[in-house]
Amino acid sequence: MSKAPRTCLGCRAVKDKGALVRFTVCNEKILPDFKGCAPGRGVYICRDEGCVREALNKKGAFSKALRTKVAVPLADEVWAAVRAGLKL
Ligand SMILES: [Zn+2]
Repeated sequence: MSKAPRTCLGCRAVKDKGALVRFTVCNEKILPDFKGCAPGRGVYICRDEGCVREALNKKGAFSKALRTKVAVPLADEVWAAVRAGLKL
């Protein structure tokens, strides 16, 4: 598996993939992809609530990074999914 570094959409820090959560779009909805194997473009965000919220607050950041129009869900909803997936 590739260990290529990725940039966090929230804080712009460059980190190893393992330190980040990948997000993809499924049915125009942003969802965390914990296995890192969902097809299509993905964005990476630190495993950090502040970064998740910051990325979601950046207007158009997801659409731009994913090159597709996406509906940005509530930060609480996304963070809850990340927490559940990471078992935090
Ligand atoms: Zn970050």
